[in-house]
Amino acid sequence: MKCAFCGYEYDESEGKQGCGGCPGGCHSIHCPRCNYKNPLEAGLIKSIKKIIAKKDQHKGAPK
Ligand SMILES: [Zn+2]
Ligand SMILES: [Zn+2]
Repeated sequence: MKCAFCGYEYDESEGKQGCGGCPGGCHSIHCPRCNYKNPLEAGLIKSIKKIIAKKDQHKGAPK
């Protein structure tokens, strides 16, 4: 995908997903160059939510 702010072209996996710093949850991919929040396509959001759910399971594991 291409950053709408600086025009830098990067792969979805290259960008920062689920940064945890965006209000209401991060549903975008941050440009690795300028950190601009690029909106995701609907299909991508679904796959990323799965990834985030997996991460949450790790985080929520009881001690
Ligand atoms: Zn950028
Ligand atoms: Zn974010």
